[in-house]
Amino acid sequence: ASPALSRIGLAGLAVMGQNLALNIAEKGFPISVYNRTTSKVDETVDRAVNEGNLPLSGQYTPKDFVLSLQRPRSVIILVKAGAPVDQTIAALSAYMEPGDAIIDGGNEWYENTERRIHEASAKGLLYLGMGVSGGEEGARHGPSLMPGGSHQAYSNVQDILHKVAAQVEDGPCVTYIGQGGSGNFVKMVHNGIEYGDMQLISEAYDVFLVEITADIFKVKDDLADGFLVDKLLDKTGMKGTGKWTVQQAAELSVAAPTIAASLDCRYLSGLKEERESAEEALKQAGFKEEIGNVTSGIDKKRLIDDVRQALYASKICSYAQGMNLLRAKSMEKGWNLNLGELARIWKGGCIIRAVFLDRIKNAYQRNQGLPNLVVDPDFAKEMVQRQAAWRRVVGLAVAAGISTPGMCASLSYFDTYRRARLPANLVQAQRDLFGAHTYERVDRPGSFHTEWTKLA
Ligand code: NAP
Repeated sequence: ASPALSRIGLAGLAVMGQNLALNIAEKGFPISVYNRTTSKVDETVDRAVNEGNLPLSGQYTPKDFVLSLQRPRSVIILVKAGAPVDQTIAALSAYMEPGDAIIDGGNEWYENTERRIHEASAKGLLYLGMGVSGGEEGARHGPSLMPGGSHQAYSNVQDILHKVAAQVEDGPCVTYIGQGGSGNFVKMVHNGIEYGDMQLISEAYDVFLVEITADIFKVKDDLADGFLVDKLLDKTGMKGTGKWTVQQAAELSVAAPTIAASLDCRYLSGLKEERESAEEALKQAGFKEEIGNVTSGIDKKRLIDDVRQALYASKICSYAQGMNLLRAKSMEKGWNLNLGELARIWKGGCIIRAVFLDRIKNAYQRNQGLPNLVVDPDFAKEMVQRQAAWRRVVGLAVAAGISTPGMCASLSYFDTYRRARLPANLVQAQRDLFGAHTYERVDRPGSFHTEWTKLA
């Protein structure tokens, strides 16, 4: 008799694929796995045995892999985004049949997913682009999942996704996101928000060690004396989702200065040698560090508390930017995104496991049409309570010459957004002077042009 067929398949057994496959098997769903380089299949099979004889079967060719699955088949792909996904789909879809589904779990550009949805549907195949968050640990023990595309494909594996996702008190961290590439888009903005969070935390650390108890700060260097975090090269990597987020914000005319500042900081951090020369050049030109003078005699306990408040207020602004970007895209594409539900599924498995995702969820539940998180009554109160501390921290950092682009961007965002009247009238006047772009008036309708230089 032929061996029992697996409930689901997973192709691509690097860090994410291997761990997600073991997670699925551990939840009791028999799974077949495949990888182009077959040594990784053996590795995964060994792990499945060692981690509790999990129901996982290794397959060594695309054909055997596909034919080892129950119909309608569901195949998760977790390979490098871009061309490798197309190549993997080509290899597998040759053996798939109408009604079968492909689920790409990579960090894919949403337009690639939309293209593949069309290509797949020409063959009768269903397609999901599913953002997966939480890294290695999340994949193995409970990620946040953001599936978008074919609702039927989602329904076919809903029971599996509900079990493997991170579990929080108000349910599993997964929900059907919407049509098209919405799952990938939401994951992209989620990563952009993570950029902001990580930047803000590193700034807080630069101003003062804020989370002194956090795990990173406790790890001793095993190659030399001291703590490991101090020995890490101050150069940040990136894979593209932050850049995409900022590009999309620009395309949609949504202000996202905190996320943009985080991205800029990664670019600047990459210029390690240039920064070393710049430090030298400015020293020679007479630049003196003011940190000592500015911070001497400062009340450390109060500073720690201030930094905590500044971090929180800055984060609210950063999340507001990410959420508004999602709303703008949702309107453009007709995705009907539920922002409160997104905040909920990000609660587990993500770097941004912030408690206040709950508050964000509540804010959108109170008011679906909330234009900005900072005007939700609860958040508004919190912003007002924290703003004095926030201004002290940013002021201190500016005076001391500590760069805090994320916190400054958030504070400027807040100070710009909360003002009924901005000096934008002067920008408009200049545009009219230089380029005859015309302007509107506060007191009457219509568009006006003035010969400014003649009248001045
Ligand atoms: P990865 O390093 O992005 O990709 C390695 C995998 O891709 C291997 O299985 C490799 O197969 C396969 N691959 C590469 N080119 C291929 C091709 N032309 N044809 C077939 N297979 C090919 O793996 P990862 O870090 O596990 O990430 C997988 C996806 O999840 C990515 O989109 C990533 O952005 C996303 N993601 C990663 C994380 C994370 O924390 N790492 C978190 C969330 C999402 P071989 O073994 O044969 O080379």
